[in-house]
Amino acid sequence: MNHTDETSQQTSSPASSATTSPPADPARRAFLGGGAAALAAWGLGAFGAPTASAGSHGAEGGGFDPFAVPKEDGAYGLFELDYPYDALEDAIDAKTMELHHSIHTESYRVGLNNALKELETARAGDDFAKVQYWQNQLAFHGAGFMLHLVFFKNMAPAGTTRPSSALRSLMRRHFGGLEAMKRHFSAAARTVEGSGWAILGYQPVGDRFIIMQAEKHQNHTQWGVFPVLAIDVWEHAYYLRYQNRRAEYVDNFWKVVNWDNVEARALFARGMRPS
Ligand code: MN
Repeated sequence: MNHTDETSQQTSSPASSATTSPPADPARRAFLGGGAAALAAWGLGAFGAPTASAGSHGAEGGGFDPFAVPKEDGAYGLFELDYPYDALEDAIDAKTMELHHSIHTESYRVGLNNALKELETARAGDDFAKVQYWQNQLAFHGAGFMLHLVFFKNMAPAGTTRPSSALRSLMRRHFGGLEAMKRHFSAAARTVEGSGWAILGYQPVGDRFIIMQAEKHQNHTQWGVFPVLAIDVWEHAYYLRYQNRRAEYVDNFWKVVNWDNVEARALFARGMRPS
Protein backbone atom coordinates (compact mmCIF):
# COMPACT_ATOMS: atom_id res chain seq x y z
CA MET A 1 0.00 0.00 0.00
CA ASN A 2 1.19 3.45 -0.78
CA HIS A 3 1.37 5.51 2.37
CA THR A 4 2.95 8.52 0.75
CA ASP A 5 1.15 11.61 1.87
CA GLU A 6 1.06 14.44 -0.60
CA THR A 7 2.04 16.97 2.02
CA SER A 8 5.14 15.03 3.02
CA GLN A 9 7.30 17.46 1.12
CA GLN A 10 5.85 20.27 3.15
CA THR A 11 7.97 21.31 6.10
CA SER A 12 5.23 22.97 8.08
CA SER A 13 1.49 22.56 8.25
CA PRO A 14 -0.93 25.25 9.26
CA ALA A 15 -3.00 24.78 12.38
CA SER A 16 -6.22 22.88 11.94
CA SER A 17 -9.46 24.74 11.90
CA ALA A 18 -11.94 23.47 14.45
CA THR A 19 -14.94 24.71 12.55
CA THR A 20 -17.00 22.69 10.13
CA SER A 21 -17.31 25.53 7.66
CA PRO A 22 -14.65 26.68 5.26
CA PRO A 23 -12.83 29.82 6.29
CA ALA A 24 -14.37 32.96 4.92
CA ASP A 25 -12.30 34.73 2.37
CA PRO A 26 -13.45 38.24 1.62
CA ALA A 27 -10.58 38.74 -0.82
CA ARG A 28 -12.09 36.16 -3.15
CA ARG A 29 -14.81 38.51 -4.29
CA ALA A 30 -12.21 41.16 -4.92
CA PHE A 31 -10.43 39.12 -7.54
CA LEU A 32 -10.73 40.81 -10.87
CA GLY A 33 -7.41 40.73 -12.64
CA GLY A 34 -4.94 38.10 -13.69
CA GLY A 35 -7.21 36.19 -16.02
CA ALA A 36 -5.09 36.73 -19.11
CA ALA A 37 -1.90 35.93 -17.23
CA ALA A 38 -3.46 32.80 -15.86
CA LEU A 39 -4.57 31.79 -19.32
CA ALA A 40 -1.06 32.31 -20.57
CA ALA A 41 0.18 30.13 -17.74
CA TRP A 42 -2.13 27.41 -18.96
CA GLY A 43 -0.96 27.96 -22.51
CA LEU A 44 -4.36 29.20 -23.53
CA GLY A 45 -3.66 32.79 -24.41
CA ALA A 46 -4.94 32.31 -27.93
CA PHE A 47 -8.32 31.36 -26.57
CA GLY A 48 -9.01 34.81 -25.22
CA ALA A 49 -9.12 36.24 -21.75
CA PRO A 50 -12.06 35.45 -19.49
CA THR A 51 -14.54 38.10 -18.51
CA ALA A 52 -13.53 39.53 -15.17
CA SER A 53 -15.80 38.06 -12.55
CA ALA A 54 -16.00 36.60 -9.11
CA GLY A 55 -18.33 33.84 -10.30
CA SER A 56 -17.51 30.38 -9.06
CA HIS A 57 -20.10 28.17 -10.67
CA GLY A 58 -23.45 28.54 -12.25
CA ALA A 59 -21.87 30.87 -14.75
CA GLU A 60 -24.89 33.07 -15.18
CA GLY A 61 -24.27 36.13 -17.29
CA GLY A 62 -21.12 34.77 -18.84
CA GLY A 63 -19.04 35.76 -15.83
CA PHE A 64 -17.35 32.46 -15.18
CA ASP A 65 -13.73 32.73 -14.13
CA PRO A 66 -11.99 29.41 -13.43
CA PHE A 67 -9.00 31.23 -11.97
CA ALA A 68 -10.79 33.14 -9.24
CA VAL A 69 -8.26 32.74 -6.45
CA PRO A 70 -7.58 35.53 -3.97
CA LYS A 71 -4.18 37.12 -4.36
CA GLU A 72 -2.31 39.67 -2.33
CA ASP A 73 1.06 41.15 -3.25
CA GLY A 74 1.53 38.37 -5.76
CA ALA A 75 0.88 35.61 -3.22
CA TYR A 76 -2.00 33.18 -3.52
CA GLY A 77 -4.68 33.06 -0.83
CA LEU A 78 -6.70 30.00 0.07
CA PHE A 79 -9.81 29.93 -2.09
CA GLU A 80 -13.03 29.33 -0.22
CA LEU A 81 -15.45 26.51 -0.95
CA ASP A 82 -18.90 27.24 -2.32
CA TYR A 83 -20.53 24.91 0.22
CA PRO A 84 -20.04 23.88 3.86
CA TYR A 85 -17.72 20.99 4.69
CA ASP A 86 -20.70 18.75 5.49
CA ALA A 87 -22.55 19.48 2.23
CA LEU A 88 -21.08 16.55 0.28
CA GLU A 89 -21.92 13.79 2.77
CA ASP A 90 -23.44 11.76 -0.07
CA ALA A 91 -19.86 11.13 -1.17
CA ILE A 92 -17.34 12.67 1.20
CA ASP A 93 -17.55 13.12 4.96
CA ALA A 94 -17.19 16.51 6.60
CA LYS A 95 -14.00 15.69 8.48
CA THR A 96 -12.22 14.61 5.30
CA MET A 97 -13.40 17.77 3.57
CA GLU A 98 -12.19 19.94 6.42
CA LEU A 99 -8.74 18.32 6.57
CA HIS A 100 -8.44 18.27 2.80
CA HIS A 101 -9.22 21.94 2.36
CA SER A 102 -7.91 23.60 5.51
CA ILE A 103 -4.75 21.48 5.96
CA HIS A 104 -3.69 19.78 2.72
CA THR A 105 -4.72 22.46 0.26
CA GLU A 106 -3.48 25.18 2.59
CA SER A 107 -0.09 23.43 2.70
CA TYR A 108 0.12 23.53 -1.10
CA ARG A 109 -0.75 27.21 -1.05
CA VAL A 110 2.00 27.98 1.47
CA GLY A 111 4.49 25.80 -0.41
CA LEU A 112 3.65 27.41 -3.75
CA ASN A 113 4.02 30.94 -2.41
CA ASN A 114 7.27 29.97 -0.73
CA ALA A 115 8.73 28.44 -3.89
CA LEU A 116 7.80 31.53 -5.93
CA LYS A 117 9.43 33.75 -3.31
CA GLU A 118 12.62 31.67 -3.17
CA LEU A 119 12.93 31.72 -6.97
CA GLU A 120 12.43 35.48 -6.96
CA THR A 121 15.23 35.75 -4.39
CA ALA A 122 17.43 33.54 -6.56
CA ARG A 123 16.89 35.81 -9.55
CA ALA A 124 17.51 38.94 -7.51
CA GLY A 125 20.80 37.57 -6.23
CA ASP A 126 21.67 35.82 -9.46
CA ASP A 127 22.26 32.73 -7.33
CA PHE A 128 20.74 29.60 -8.85
CA ALA A 129 22.62 27.04 -6.78
CA LYS A 130 19.32 25.64 -5.40
CA VAL A 131 17.22 26.16 -8.50
CA GLN A 132 16.51 22.47 -9.06
CA TYR A 133 15.12 22.07 -5.54
CA TRP A 134 12.88 25.11 -5.80
CA GLN A 135 11.66 24.20 -9.29
CA ASN A 136 10.69 20.82 -7.86
CA GLN A 137 8.87 22.53 -4.99
CA LEU A 138 7.16 24.88 -7.45
CA ALA A 139 5.92 21.95 -9.53
CA PHE A 140 4.76 19.89 -6.54
CA HIS A 141 2.94 22.66 -4.70
CA GLY A 142 1.80 24.52 -7.81
CA ALA A 143 0.25 21.45 -9.39
CA GLY A 144 -1.30 20.49 -6.05
CA PHE A 145 -2.81 23.91 -5.48
CA MET A 146 -4.23 24.23 -9.01
CA LEU A 147 -5.71 20.74 -9.11
CA HIS A 148 -7.34 21.12 -5.69
CA LEU A 149 -8.91 24.35 -6.92
CA VAL A 150 -10.43 22.45 -9.85
CA PHE A 151 -11.46 19.47 -7.71
CA PHE A 152 -13.22 21.45 -4.97
CA LYS A 153 -14.98 23.71 -7.47
CA ASN A 154 -15.98 20.62 -9.45
CA MET A 155 -18.27 19.53 -6.59
CA ALA A 156 -21.65 20.62 -5.22
CA PRO A 157 -24.28 19.05 -2.94
CA ALA A 158 -25.92 15.99 -4.48
CA GLY A 159 -28.89 16.71 -6.70
CA THR A 160 -28.23 20.42 -7.14
CA THR A 161 -26.87 20.33 -10.69
CA ARG A 162 -27.41 18.26 -13.84
CA PRO A 163 -25.41 17.86 -17.03
CA SER A 164 -26.73 20.33 -19.60
CA SER A 165 -27.52 19.47 -23.20
CA ALA A 166 -24.47 21.48 -24.29
CA LEU A 167 -22.16 19.43 -22.08
CA ARG A 168 -23.82 16.18 -23.14
CA SER A 169 -23.34 17.17 -26.74
CA LEU A 170 -19.63 17.85 -26.20
CA MET A 171 -19.16 14.57 -24.38
CA ARG A 172 -21.02 12.70 -27.10
CA ARG A 173 -18.74 14.16 -29.74
CA HIS A 174 -15.52 13.45 -27.88
CA PHE A 175 -16.30 10.27 -25.94
CA GLY A 176 -19.40 8.79 -27.53
CA GLY A 177 -21.57 10.03 -24.68
CA LEU A 178 -21.57 11.34 -21.14
CA GLU A 179 -21.91 7.86 -19.66
CA ALA A 180 -18.97 6.61 -21.71
CA MET A 181 -16.88 9.54 -20.46
CA LYS A 182 -17.87 8.72 -16.87
CA ARG A 183 -16.97 5.05 -17.27
CA HIS A 184 -13.63 5.93 -18.81
CA PHE A 185 -12.95 8.57 -16.12
CA SER A 186 -13.92 6.17 -13.32
CA ALA A 187 -11.72 3.40 -14.69
CA ALA A 188 -8.81 5.82 -14.91
CA ALA A 189 -9.43 7.01 -11.33
CA ARG A 190 -9.67 3.47 -9.95
CA THR A 191 -6.40 2.38 -11.51
CA VAL A 192 -4.03 5.29 -10.88
CA GLU A 193 -0.93 3.68 -9.43
CA GLY A 194 -0.31 4.93 -5.91
CA SER A 195 -1.52 8.46 -5.32
CA GLY A 196 -2.76 10.69 -8.04
CA TRP A 197 -5.64 12.01 -10.05
CA ALA A 198 -7.90 11.31 -12.96
CA ILE A 199 -8.48 14.43 -15.02
CA LEU A 200 -10.83 15.31 -17.83
CA GLY A 201 -9.11 18.05 -19.75
CA TYR A 202 -9.23 20.07 -22.91
CA GLN A 203 -6.27 19.76 -25.27
CA PRO A 204 -6.27 22.88 -27.46
CA VAL A 205 -3.76 21.54 -29.96
CA GLY A 206 -6.28 18.98 -31.12
CA ASP A 207 -9.44 20.84 -30.03
CA ARG A 208 -10.12 17.66 -28.12
CA PHE A 209 -11.29 16.60 -24.68
CA ILE A 210 -9.15 13.86 -23.16
CA ILE A 211 -8.91 11.85 -19.95
CA MET A 212 -5.56 11.62 -18.21
CA GLN A 213 -4.17 9.79 -15.20
CA ALA A 214 -1.68 11.67 -13.06
CA GLU A 215 0.63 9.79 -10.73
CA LYS A 216 1.63 12.23 -8.04
CA HIS A 217 0.48 15.33 -9.85
CA GLN A 218 3.50 17.13 -11.15
CA ASN A 219 4.31 14.31 -13.54
CA HIS A 220 2.72 12.87 -16.66
CA THR A 221 1.04 16.06 -17.73
CA GLN A 222 0.33 17.20 -21.26
CA TRP A 223 1.32 20.82 -21.64
CA GLY A 224 -1.49 23.11 -22.53
CA VAL A 225 -4.28 20.88 -21.28
CA PHE A 226 -6.95 22.85 -19.44
CA PRO A 227 -8.43 20.75 -16.61
CA VAL A 228 -12.22 20.50 -16.76
CA LEU A 229 -13.02 17.85 -14.15
CA ALA A 230 -10.63 16.31 -11.65
CA ILE A 231 -10.97 13.72 -8.92
CA ASP A 232 -8.42 13.40 -6.14
CA VAL A 233 -7.57 9.76 -5.44
CA TRP A 234 -4.81 10.36 -2.91
CA GLU A 235 -5.76 8.36 0.17
CA HIS A 236 -6.37 11.47 2.27
CA ALA A 237 -9.25 12.29 -0.07
CA TYR A 238 -11.27 9.24 0.94
CA TYR A 239 -9.53 7.03 3.50
CA LEU A 240 -11.49 8.02 6.62
CA ARG A 241 -14.74 6.73 5.15
CA TYR A 242 -13.65 4.33 2.43
CA GLN A 243 -10.27 2.96 3.58
CA ASN A 244 -9.04 0.80 0.67
CA ARG A 245 -12.37 0.97 -1.22
CA ARG A 246 -11.31 3.58 -3.75
CA ALA A 247 -13.77 2.32 -6.34
CA GLU A 248 -16.70 3.03 -4.01
CA TYR A 249 -15.41 6.55 -3.44
CA VAL A 250 -15.07 7.06 -7.20
CA ASP A 251 -18.62 5.84 -7.77
CA ASN A 252 -20.00 8.17 -5.12
CA PHE A 253 -18.00 11.11 -6.44
CA TRP A 254 -20.43 11.33 -9.34
CA LYS A 255 -23.23 12.13 -6.88
CA VAL A 256 -21.56 15.39 -5.97
CA VAL A 257 -20.19 16.57 -9.28
CA ASN A 258 -21.08 20.19 -10.01
CA TRP A 259 -22.17 19.87 -13.61
CA ASP A 260 -22.65 23.62 -13.96
CA ASN A 261 -18.99 24.07 -13.11
CA VAL A 262 -17.90 21.28 -15.43
CA GLU A 263 -19.85 22.78 -18.30
CA ALA A 264 -18.56 26.28 -17.60
CA ARG A 265 -14.97 25.01 -17.58
CA ALA A 266 -15.49 22.95 -20.74
CA LEU A 267 -16.99 25.84 -22.67
CA PHE A 268 -14.54 28.36 -21.25
CA ALA A 269 -11.67 26.22 -22.48
CA ARG A 270 -13.01 26.44 -26.00
CA GLY A 271 -13.70 30.17 -25.80
CA MET A 272 -17.45 29.62 -25.59
CA ARG A 273 -20.08 31.02 -23.27
CA PRO A 274 -22.03 28.71 -20.94
CA SER A 275 -25.60 28.07 -22.04
MN1 MN B 1 -5.73 16.10 -2.13
